[in-house]
Amino acid sequence: MDNCIFCKIVKGEIPSYIVYEDDVVKAFLDISQGTPGHTLVIPKKHVPDLFAYDEELAAAVFSRLPKIAQAVKDSNPKIKGLNVLNNNGKVAYQSVFHSHIHLIPRYSDQDDFK
Ligand code: 5GP
Ligand code: ZN
Repeated sequence: MDNCIFCKIVKGEIPSYIVYEDDVVKAFLDISQGTPGHTLVIPKKHVPDLFAYDEELAAAVFSRLPKIAQAVKDSNPKIKGLNVLNNNGKVAYQSVFHSHIHLIPRYSDQDDFK
């Protein structure tokens, strides 16, 4: 998709801080960090939302989540847990229509962010 911001991130046309990348997915820091380490995982293939996945792509993308989550957790010893969030549709607060999974680190104490 020519005018898709995340397709441009996949191609490297828009810079991103890459957390993980392979042939199927790219994971990079969210430009607006909900908590420090907030990461987005996207299929490299343009898929607008969860409704457009086939089983094969869903399995491939979700199979990457444990190791990416572990990499995020390992990036900061203060990370004690992590939320996985996936918005689908405007009414569900999706704002970028290239499917993405939010990994949102959680800390035992908000003061620990810094
Ligand atoms: P949504 O609301 O669609 O679930 O989440 C979209 C996310 O994409 C938002 O958290 C937003 O901060 C992030 N985002 C939007 N544009 C860019 C960008 O150009 N680069 C990066 N790294 N994140 C972006
Ligand atoms: Zn796209």
